[in-house]
Amino acid sequence: MVNRNKILRAMRNIVGAEFVETDELAIRLYSKEASGIESKALAVVFPKISKEVSEILRFAYAENLKIYPQGSATGLAGASTPSPDGIILSFDRMNTVKEISIVDGFVVVEPGVRIIHLNEELSKYGYHFPVDPASAKSATVGGLINTGGGGLKGVVYGTMREWVMELEIVLPDEEGSILKIGCKTPKCRQGYDLVRLIVGSEGTLAVVTEATLRIYPQPENVAVIVGFFDDMENVMKTVVEIKKKRISPAILEFADAETVKIGAERTQLGVRGNMLIVGIEVPLEISEKYLRALEDIFKNNNANKILIAETMAKAEEMKLFEIRRAAYPAAIFEASKEIESELSRPLVVIEDIAVPPSKLPETVRKLRALANEYSFPLVLFGHVGDGNLHPTSWVDTSNEKMKSKFWEFLHKIMQIAIDLGGTISAEHGIGTLKKKGLEMEFEKKGSLKALEIMRSIKKIFDPKNILNPGKIF
Ligand SMILES: Cc1cc2nc3c(=O)[nH]c(=O)nc-3n(C[C@H](O)[C@H](O)[C@H](O)COP(=O)(O)OP(=O)(O)OC[C@H]3O[C@@H](n4cnc5c(N)ncnc54)[C@H](O)[C@@H]3O)c2cc1C
Repeated sequence: MVNRNKILRAMRNIVGAEFVETDELAIRLYSKEASGIESKALAVVFPKISKEVSEILRFAYAENLKIYPQGSATGLAGASTPSPDGIILSFDRMNTVKEISIVDGFVVVEPGVRIIHLNEELSKYGYHFPVDPASAKSATVGGLINTGGGGLKGVVYGTMREWVMELEIVLPDEEGSILKIGCKTPKCRQGYDLVRLIVGSEGTLAVVTEATLRIYPQPENVAVIVGFFDDMENVMKTVVEIKKKRISPAILEFADAETVKIGAERTQLGVRGNMLIVGIEVPLEISEKYLRALEDIFKNNNANKILIAETMAKAEEMKLFEIRRAAYPAAIFEASKEIESELSRPLVVIEDIAVPPSKLPETVRKLRALANEYSFPLVLFGHVGDGNLHPTSWVDTSNEKMKSKFWEFLHKIMQIAIDLGGTISAEHGIGTLKKKGLEMEFEKKGSLKALEIMRSIKKIFDPKNILNPGKIF
């Protein structure tokens, strides 16, 4: 049984009374994730320094109090939602860029720093942090580390696991131990790689209170070409052909005709069909050569329209990225239009599968056939350069029968990826929504024991199962 008053008193003593939020409306706002999953919590607590986090975790260990670390709650897998008997640990006040070292190639930040602000700071030095999710305006460093997220430039720069050098973490143990793991040097051997274990651990192992991240010079220029195709499979064939030609774009983004239709109404770009955006980091003087080569590939695959911007500034001016960036909100908009009423509310689920890029044409064919078989709406977009697709669908939550058919449909989507040698989650994580999918993936590999190992690791870090319990497995 939770002693609410005792907990609130302790939290107020640790962080100060004004930094413990108990207002119901505020708690409701913090308890809702972008995935649409919502819950409740006892309070939202806003620590300022690592020592306060340590004291909170020490108290939580002694009192069996559940702690839910949270960035901006833009997660899409149900990984940051609390339970009514736990507290949300928000990093809104731990939002400082502490050090930028150009010579050593790193930045030291607190977990609440938003990706967009990090890049604003770095741009003053001609540098950037290239893992830029479509949610960069809100997503925090702590959240991105813990989801192991990626971004629009993942095809060249990879995901978070390539960019985290050193971490300060706090453990949910008797002492609230504060540890430094990893190094501030590019090369670092410390036995087992604990930094990589924390990346993508979805706040279930430790609380991240500081991160040293690799940084990279901003590219001199990014040239952009966008093609629209009547046939979705031709987009995937274009991606495969670009890869075969050994052109190495930094951006390879896709949105299907339905997403383009919704987005085009907003941007007034006057386009139709399935969209492929290719961005290449090349100096302006030689961009022409690459753009022409890409244009030829687009034409060979029957693009109905091609738009070219020699610079990123021009691409932004032409709103070439707008449709892709707004793909998920556009799906929510469409679902609400279709379903929302006094009695019914839509549940919109965005999947996060990845397949080897050579399998993309077959994947979209199978996904379309599946949607037809189940008669559910399906919009498709994603980071196709990484083979990462976000099949997105929705259901009326007031219809119980349809809801269970919907979950079956979502699991079939994951099965398609698994069967084609892919994975159920490329960047959003497992959270609560993809637990079964994770099991399916390891089962296919004959490696269910991997889940047992993970459970044992969880016990070592969090012996009382108080840190973001119920997530991943
Ligand atoms: C419109 C939209 C577009 C998106 N585009 C992308 C994309 O391109 N690429 C991508 O990868 N994702 C994308 N996402 C998903 C999401 O934005 C990312 O997963 C992001 O990294 C989450 O950051 P956050 O700060 O909101 O974290 P939250 O959602 O608050 O938390 C995510 C996880 O991190 C944990 N956590 C947060 N802070 C800490 C901490 N300090 N210590 C320990 N654990 C912590 C939480 O417990 C939770 O498990 C998108 C989401 C939306 C809504």
